[in-house]
Amino acid sequence: MSMMQKSPHNMAPSNRLLIVDDDAVIRLLARSALDPLDLEVHEAENGAEAMALFQQQPFDIVLLDLQMPVMDGFTAARKIRSLSGGDKATLIMVTGLNDPDSIEKAYEVGATDFVTKPINWAILKQRLRFVLRARGAFQALRENEAKLLESQRIANLGHWEWDITNDRAEWSEQVYRILGQSVDGCEASYAAFLQAVHAEDRAAFSHAISHAVEVGEPFLLEHRIVQPDGQERYVISQGEAAWKAEGKGKKLRNVLQDITERKHTEEQIFCLANFDNLTGLPNRDMFRKQAEHFLETARRDASRVAVLLLDLDRFKRINDSMGYGAGNELIKEVAARISTCLREFDLTGEVHTQDDLPYSLARSGGDEFMLLLRGVDGAEEVAHFVRQLSTKLTQPLNTMQREVNLSASVGISLFPDDGEGVDVLINNADIALGYAKEAEGGCFRFYSSEMNAWASKRIDLESRLNRALENNEFQLYYQPQIELGSGKLAGFEALLRWFPEDGEMVSPMEFIPIAEETGLIVEIGAWVLHQACSQLERWQEEGYSLVPIAVNVSARQFTDEGLVKMVKKEISATGLAPELLELELTERIIMRSVEETRSRLQALKEIGVKLSVDDFGTGYSSMNYLKIFPLDTLKIDRSFVMELETDSNDQAIVRAIVAMSKGLGLSTIAEGVETDQQRNLLSRIGCDLMQGYLYSRPVLCEEAAAYLTPSDDQRGAWSGNRTYGSGTRS
Ligand code: C2E
Ligand code: CA
Ligand code: CA
Repeated sequence: MSMMQKSPHNMAPSNRLLIVDDDAVIRLLARSALDPLDLEVHEAENGAEAMALFQQQPFDIVLLDLQMPVMDGFTAARKIRSLSGGDKATLIMVTGLNDPDSIEKAYEVGATDFVTKPINWAILKQRLRFVLRARGAFQALRENEAKLLESQRIANLGHWEWDITNDRAEWSEQVYRILGQSVDGCEASYAAFLQAVHAEDRAAFSHAISHAVEVGEPFLLEHRIVQPDGQERYVISQGEAAWKAEGKGKKLRNVLQDITERKHTEEQIFCLANFDNLTGLPNRDMFRKQAEHFLETARRDASRVAVLLLDLDRFKRINDSMGYGAGNELIKEVAARISTCLREFDLTGEVHTQDDLPYSLARSGGDEFMLLLRGVDGAEEVAHFVRQLSTKLTQPLNTMQREVNLSASVGISLFPDDGEGVDVLINNADIALGYAKEAEGGCFRFYSSEMNAWASKRIDLESRLNRALENNEFQLYYQPQIELGSGKLAGFEALLRWFPEDGEMVSPMEFIPIAEETGLIVEIGAWVLHQACSQLERWQEEGYSLVPIAVNVSARQFTDEGLVKMVKKEISATGLAPELLELELTERIIMRSVEETRSRLQALKEIGVKLSVDDFGTGYSSMNYLKIFPLDTLKIDRSFVMELETDSNDQAIVRAIVAMSKGLGLSTIAEGVETDQQRNLLSRIGCDLMQGYLYSRPVLCEEAAAYLTPSDDQRGAWSGNRTYGSGTRS
């Protein structure tokens, strides 16, 4: 017989009250008297029924009549206490017997409180109210305690106290955990704690503690803990000494936080921010810091510091052809070789600790390394070191069963000769490196102020180049390409000229690389392409029969996503036959990334344009790739043509290129043909086309038109230069 009287309106579950009395009137009265307390009230007629209800779901408060049939209140109280949840219930006994015996007995069986009959409802209500509040507070306390423990566990926070007067200590569970001890296995004491502190940190730790005890100042210190199994933890100990409540003696309260994980993360972040992942060497940022440090010392003792930038030659090519894995191995090997060299080349002859090395080595990314040498006498000494380093680097290296011959270019600047600050020195070493790279591989260059003049000229060009397009300073020149057999015009190569408003003509050799670096080449290239196509269209309108125009495409243009679209647009806008446009790509460009090149070339080929490889033979191509690329023409580099008459080696190379092209179904064109002998030799070798000053220099469109023949209907009316030999020669 149980019913729920009141359902809770608020969200918090209300307390459950069970009224156990055989007297229905009492139950009714109790119910209405306690109604304002907002309890969930249930009723039972006797102890057995109360037990059954309690078992279903424990009650918070049980109002229990002592004298009842079936099972009396004492028995019921005892049994309820033994039920699950029974220990937490508040049991209030209701007794008619106001005798000490039954009161005592009631407490014995676990009563929390008692009231006597006749019940004063007002008092009962107050008493229950108090019970409820106490229960609430108690509950909150328990929850807080649990939360605190949980938070401490999550925060790896422990606390311990040390009563200095009697040398007793108490550790929280978390302290045991941080020390790697079990609660049973280790007795809490200050000595035991001190023992766990890392030997190297112990003196500082005990000093901080005694200072806190003597002076009463709070302390905060980071130190290590060594667990019994040798594992190290990083912790922060924070605390203060206080007079004990009774005012006798002192107590030390201490909070211990385990920051090992954070420390490791910090270390990782530090490593990521300052070191190179692959080689473990410092990175550029770290290098700068070290350089600052070196310069500081050098300023003090008026000594010299050398800054060296080292860049591997042709690394890109090795990397592309052998794969990243091998490339990485190579970088690591290079790092190791430089390190050995630095160790062996001791400039000071002193013994150094790890923190006080007279040199520093960093990897600044890719195949670039940065070096610092301290205490150098002058350039000669540095040159000696670099020569030694070069010898070491060029020793053959076996990576992935292939022998690789490495060399590096080095740029050097000296403190204080070439600059006072780190950035200037690095910058100047970089300029020198640029010079070293321009020379053959394996060279080194010291910075000089003339280099700086060159660099500033470059910067000046760069800013002027920015405005060249909108100022209309570009002009496209056309150089005829001639069939060696027939002497007929076979096409033109479009070559760009820049006539700055405020200066002399600048060679494309000078400005194309700058346009490449700054990205301007994409816009300029679009202009060239448009110009060439428009020229063809104009010639068509003027009634000439057309020959293809070859346009140079630089690396940045080739990798630019927009290239294919742009070519397509130009072709469809002019309505030209696509094979009238030829794109010249250098060997370097197409050998960069084989798969990408292939799909890009394929896309261009699908448009129908012709593709040729410029500067062919300069050492980058692999026959295997040429086979899989959809190419039309190989342009034999001018360097092989230049001394063709005298150099039998060059002849052999040109012969091989021509033979190979035939095998691959490609045509050949020789560039830079200047003499009759060259032309004759090329013709005999079987080269298809030629281009060079012998026939004509690059010329403006009007002059170029003179080489064209009119289309059939106008043939009779036009007589121009159409055979080899009669063209402009200069
Ligand atoms: P390249 O593509 O190898 O062009 C051939 C260069 O050799 C041209 O120099 C040309 O004038 C020159 N030349 C032609 N015949 C002879 C000869 O018989 N003897 C000698 N000594 N030289 C000859 P240029 O016009 O100064 O161009 C230099 C380079 O600039 C070109 O080399 C090409 O890589 C680049 N370039 C020129 N125009 C453009 C362009 O519109 N776009 C791009 N991306 N690059 C261009
Ligand atoms: Ca070219
Ligand atoms: Ca060329």
